[in-house]
Amino acid sequence: MKTGLFIDGVWRESGDNRVVTVENPATGAVLAQVADATVADGDAALAAASRAQRQWAAVDPRARGELLRTAFELLTARTDEFATLMSLEMGKSLAEARGEVAYGAEFFRWFAEEAVRVAGRWAAAPSGGTRLLTMRQPVGPTLMITPWNFPLAMGTRKIGAAVAAGCTMVVKPASQTPLTMLALADLLAEAGLPPGVLNVITTTRTAQVVEPLVRDPRTRKLTFTGSTPIGRLLVEQSAEQLLRVSMELGGNAPFLVFEDADLDAAVDGALLAKMRNIGQACTAANRFLVHESIADAFTARLAERMSALVVGPGTEPGTEVGPLIDAAARDKVGELVDDAIGRGARLVAGGKPVGEAGYFFAPTVLADVPADARLLREEIFGPVAPVRTFATEEQALAEANDTEYGLVAYVFTKDLSRAVRVSEALEFGMVGINQGVVSNPAAPFGGMKASGFGREGGVEGIDEYLETKYVGLAL
Ligand code: NAP
Repeated sequence: MKTGLFIDGVWRESGDNRVVTVENPATGAVLAQVADATVADGDAALAAASRAQRQWAAVDPRARGELLRTAFELLTARTDEFATLMSLEMGKSLAEARGEVAYGAEFFRWFAEEAVRVAGRWAAAPSGGTRLLTMRQPVGPTLMITPWNFPLAMGTRKIGAAVAAGCTMVVKPASQTPLTMLALADLLAEAGLPPGVLNVITTTRTAQVVEPLVRDPRTRKLTFTGSTPIGRLLVEQSAEQLLRVSMELGGNAPFLVFEDADLDAAVDGALLAKMRNIGQACTAANRFLVHESIADAFTARLAERMSALVVGPGTEPGTEVGPLIDAAARDKVGELVDDAIGRGARLVAGGKPVGEAGYFFAPTVLADVPADARLLREEIFGPVAPVRTFATEEQALAEANDTEYGLVAYVFTKDLSRAVRVSEALEFGMVGINQGVVSNPAAPFGGMKASGFGREGGVEGIDEYLETKYVGLAL
């Protein structure tokens, strides 16, 4: 298991030999200790990325693509190893962790194919005479900050695009789940990534270490996945040098079920949209808005399926729902449930923490949730499904859009015109029609409003790491 800092192709301890303790959320037991980077370590990582940039940008696109393809194959071959590590440090079930390895690896395959498709334009100026040449070049050393909920995939969808574009990088994974990223750095070095192209620093002195890197002119881009408050703070810091910035932030996804929906498909979709990653996903359905004529049937079926899920440590065979990330997360979920019930919501299933050790919370369904309940405004980040009803499409849309967030919305309907109409009216970066999962490496992932800006994956993903340069050529 790798536990050091990875700087300029070398594994090393932190400058003051301090360590970060990584805990298993299923038991609360210590899992490992990794290096706790100092400000000077952060600086060394950026210096390495900066030194490597020019040479890395000059590597043939095909060679960068082949390297990503090798990384895809190595990662796929080591699915069980990575899945176990992720399940141990983050809590998700082995089945979900294997799914994340497949999803995460797919970004390497996708960007292996995109690396050779970066092109510019050639045009005649409208007035004639001059020719307009447009080229696209790597933006340069990139600072990447990732969250704990998808320790692998939130990294690979940034790293894959940056490698393909020819950028070097400093990656800072979440303190609670650093082991997966350290293992990934080792794998990328084995795949042939030259020293300095990817540097990984783990630290608990996060604000102290990161801020100077955001303000350092050697950094040319910042890409962040995490909470909206930290995203706002980083955008403010990045204003100093007008950094290129991508922000993948929080969500508050509405899940709309119209009266003409296939109810079985809607319940299947609801389970996926709610319970993926134990409800700890930016894409998690946070508000179920169901037509009043089918709300009782939908709620009863959802509650039956949620109650039947097997809760336990992620690494145990048969587990479907692992623990939440820590005690604070579990307590916050409990607080939000109590608040809703206190304001008049009806508890249909779950509602409480489970077990003695670890941070488990029972899959929960709430009906008749009143409009002022906190969990309709805040990201729940746990296995809780609040259900509300609507009478008209107009009402459903108004309520769905009534949030500061704009990441993803789900819609269940068999009416094609309605599906198009509603998709156009929803103020969200992604819409799932009759499906509970939208994530796909070939699609542009990202949000609007307080969910951030920029896109990851798809043909758009590599654009985030490229600058456009125009050359005017007089004839
Ligand atoms: P977080 O607290 O914002 O942390 C995310 C990352 O930011 C971690 O690496 C964290 O490091 C770092 N960080 C914390 N304070 C910082 C500071 N002052 N300066 C620089 N970096 C700082 O979010 P989280 O709780 O880990 O993740 C959950 C959030 O991520 C949710 O809101 C979720 O919706 C969002 N998310 C969004 C997407 C998306 O694509 N839109 C995907 C997944 C998750 P430490 O761990 O060291 O504190």
